[in-house]
Amino acid sequence: MSRKPTETSIARIQPLARLPVFFALEGRRVVIAGGSEAAAWKAELLAAAGARVELYAEHPSDELLTVLQSLASDHIELRRRPWSFDILQGAALAILATENDAEAQAFRCSAQANGVPCNVVDRPAFCDFSFGGIVNRSPLIIGISTDGAAPVFGQAIRAKIEAMLPQGLTQWAEAARQWRPSVQALKLSFQRRRAFWERFTELALANPNDTPSEAERDALLAKSAHDAASPERGSAVLVGAGPGDPELLTLKAVRALQSADIILYDDLVSRAVLDFARREAKTMLVGKTGHGPSCKQEDINRLMVSFAQQGKRVVRLKSGDPMVFGRATEELEACRLAGVPVEVIPGITTAQGVASRIGRSLTHRAIARRVQFLTGHDTSGKLPGDIDWSAIADQNATTVVYMPAKTIRALTEAALRHGLPADIPAIAVYNATRTNELVVEATIASLPDRMEASGASGPVIVLIGKAMQGAEANWLHLWGSSTSPEETIRAIG
Ligand code: SAH
Repeated sequence: MSRKPTETSIARIQPLARLPVFFALEGRRVVIAGGSEAAAWKAELLAAAGARVELYAEHPSDELLTVLQSLASDHIELRRRPWSFDILQGAALAILATENDAEAQAFRCSAQANGVPCNVVDRPAFCDFSFGGIVNRSPLIIGISTDGAAPVFGQAIRAKIEAMLPQGLTQWAEAARQWRPSVQALKLSFQRRRAFWERFTELALANPNDTPSEAERDALLAKSAHDAASPERGSAVLVGAGPGDPELLTLKAVRALQSADIILYDDLVSRAVLDFARREAKTMLVGKTGHGPSCKQEDINRLMVSFAQQGKRVVRLKSGDPMVFGRATEELEACRLAGVPVEVIPGITTAQGVASRIGRSLTHRAIARRVQFLTGHDTSGKLPGDIDWSAIADQNATTVVYMPAKTIRALTEAALRHGLPADIPAIAVYNATRTNELVVEATIASLPDRMEASGASGPVIVLIGKAMQGAEANWLHLWGSSTSPEETIRAIG
């Protein structure tokens, strides 16, 4: 059965408890009411964002006065009288610090009647918006909220991000703002403008604490001007998506996904991996399943080439590693023949993902001196006729069988006939590295029955060899795996 490549839309935004928005407050009037220190701290925050703060406090506390004195900000004006309905008119934001429910209610109603978003400090029931945690690399600003669910957790996350982002990013974000007009003046196409900003970002992230220089700006602009002189060219990149767990993606793969125009992906690519795609990227399922309906390889090749020829950046996203049972040669060849620049970003192949999950090394210096990857079926869907059975019967090898589902019985029987001892350990792993991972442990003789008895479905891989002998895998806990070894290593039968 054949099927056509289909465009898919991936709902990438999950429900949000809060919508982060970034208010432009430069020169705008903000009303704060309340005589406590909390009111003063809010005044400081809003003044830092450029607002003209009117702080209403009939009886300002000593703490408030001390804070205001230390700030000495000409953006904050203290008015020693209570707030009133009228003063809220035309304000950009209204903030109240009070313990009094009736006052909070009246303030909120007044703000709403004036169309002004309102916050009552630490009283979520009276708030239209909340203040999140802030990591400040202005003009790069990161806001953090847990919707009040876990403030301490939120603070810890803030500290983590704070530690991750060098202070120097402030200068780079500011440089971006200042360099933007020069980039616009080049009148580049969308793709080339994007290429400029990608080079800029690479430079910034490689040298975050260096001050961006005019020489660097000129070099980047010169490169873009030079590019603009040659015809626009798209490109293709074969990207390894790994077996499923998105944390197994390489940094390069993530970068490619985030700059893709089009992503052509296989059935076996997990949704969690697609979540890393650039939001605007078009995604197309070009799946080939072992025994179900499949897109023709020629259609996939043609799509890759034609999108790239339209100047698009095509990501051909394949499960595991593109160079392992991924028909990469044909896709690379099609691109090369069409003159489309193409490269490959490797991924973790399923065998590697599985070995780590079950805690068994594919090699062992005494009992597994060789690893062989084998496909369970040929182009007709049958066990390949040209398997070197002496290699499979080698007791000092680990054999990994990809696509074993339909032929495992024929394969194990032939291996036994060719002299592989019946008690050699054999393991099947379904949905490796995913949340529904399932491991079936057996011997080469009992594996087909145990696989059948497990009733498991989904992609499966089989590993055979002495090195697959059971080993305690409790250390998997250390790495915060999505499933526990108890759930994962479930011997059937
Ligand atoms: N390029 C891939 C292999 C593609 S062939 C890689 O490097 O892993 C498709 C086969 O890979 C499937 O039939 C199955 O045997 C295996 N496979 C891919 N993802 C898997 C997963 N999450 N769990 C188990 N097997 C998987």
